[in-house]
Parts: sequence; structure tokens; C-alpha cells
Amino acid sequence: MNKEEIKKLKEENEELRRKNTLRSELITLSAHDLRTSLSSAKWALKMFLDDDLGKLTSQQREYLQKLYEDNEQMIQLVNEVLAINHTEDLEIEYTFENTDIASLIEEVLEEFKGAAHKHKIAIDFSKPKDIPLASIDKKKIKVVIQNLIDNAIKYNNPGGEIKVSTQKSGKMIEVAVLDTGIGIPEKDQKSIFQKSVRTENAKKKGVAGTGFGLYISKNLVEKHGGKIWFESEENKGSTFYFTVPISRP
Ligand code: ADP
Repeated sequence: MNKEEIKKLKEENEELRRKNTLRSELITLSAHDLRTSLSSAKWALKMFLDDDLGKLTSQQREYLQKLYEDNEQMIQLVNEVLAINHTEDLEIEYTFENTDIASLIEEVLEEFKGAAHKHKIAIDFSKPKDIPLASIDKKKIKVVIQNLIDNAIKYNNPGGEIKVSTQKSGKMIEVAVLDTGIGIPEKDQKSIFQKSVRTENAKKKGVAGTGFGLYISKNLVEKHGGKIWFESEENKGSTFYFTVPISRP
């Protein structure tokens, strides 16, 4: 292969990467929009089914129940599309920007306000002052925070609590998400970051899930040079932690 051919091949490769990133971002954005709409429909249907908006006839209940289940399946499907897309994304480029992680947490908490309210779960986050900026790919770390908050709600109990905090820890920024939920049984703790792993107590609770979230989160955090870990006790709750690097001046 001569120099000219190598150059051409490199250019084609670059073009392919660019298109791939674009395609992946488009899928992620559409899937997120779709999931937000499906979630709104879910909470509305749930209010009807819980008789919050008046008593239903048995026929109305039957139709709405079917609609609720179909909607739930669609959410599951969208989650899977997002999961697969993110797994592919792991190989794609990262764009690091200096980011205020506390604002990013607030952004995510805003998205989950409705779900937390519906599950009667109180979320506490006191925004820290004077915390350095983090050097992160904002979209990717947002996915990690979304996964952790989503889990903290899904695997919590009605009336439960979530406490989110962030602090400087050496050369890193640490984020912690504590919940008062069902916890992770000791026997499952070793495998929880592996692909498709779901615990028995989570399945018994009947919440939808794919077992992809933590696997993806671990990959995303590690690509930033950070770590992700947790402490948990069954029936007491869990705290998930992750770190990302502080931006260099
Ligand atoms: P998903 O929630 O879609 O199943 P995840 O990869 O996010 O997938 O989580 C994997 C499994 O780890 C869950 O199915 C659940 O069994 C357990 N898990 C994750 N987060 C929590 C939590 N905060 N409390 C209890 N169990 C959890």
C-alpha cells in the first residue's frame, strides 16, 4: 500500500467514525425522548389503575391494565436499545469537558422528580459549595447518574429515602447515592456489575430491568479513569459510589 492509499483509508475510517458517533447520538436522543413520553404515560395510567382519579369499572380497568403492561414492555425495549447503543458507544470517542458535577446531578434529579413522587420517595441533595470542576464526558457521566438514581428509586420502598452527595476526594470527585431500599444480598454482591445480572429480591419485587445499567456504568466510569463500588445490606439499603477526575488547570 502506498502513502496515498494509506491516507485515503485513514480518511474513510475517520468519516465512518464520525457517522457512527452521529448515528449513535441520534439513537440515544430519540430513545431518551421516547422513554420520557412512555414514562409519563405510565404514571398517568398508574394513577387511573390506583383509583386516584375515581373508581374504574372492571371493563375500564381491564383495558387500562393491558395498556399499562404493553407500555411497560415498550419501556423495557427502549431500555434495551439504549443499553446496546451505550455498549457500542464505549468504543467510540469521548469528549472531555470541565463540568460542574453538582449541576449535572441537579439536572438528573429534575428528570426523576415525577417517579420519586409517585413512589413516595424523598430525595435529598444539598449542593456543595466550592467543589472543583470534573473533567468528564458529560453525556456519559449523566447516564451513570441516571442509572444510579433510577435504581435507587426502583429498588426502594414506599416512603423511602435517597441521599445524593458529592465531594472532593484527593485528585477525584466522588459521588454517592444512598437508598433505604431492598439492598443487595451478600451472595450477589460479587457479580452485580456483570452484564445481565439481576438479584432474586429485585425480580421478586416485580420491577422491570435488564441488568445492563451497572455493567455500562462501570465501563463508562472506568473509561474516565474512575472507580465505581457500593456498600449494601439486604433489607436495609445500598450506597453506590463513583469517582471521576478533577479537571486540570
Ligand atoms: P436493572 O436495574 O436494569 O436490572 P442494573 O444493572 O442497573 O440493571 O442493576 C443490576 C441489578 O442490581 C438489579 O437488577 C438489582 O438486582 C441490583 N441493584 C442495582 N441497584 C440496586 C439498588 N440500589 N438496590 C438494590 N438492588 C440493586
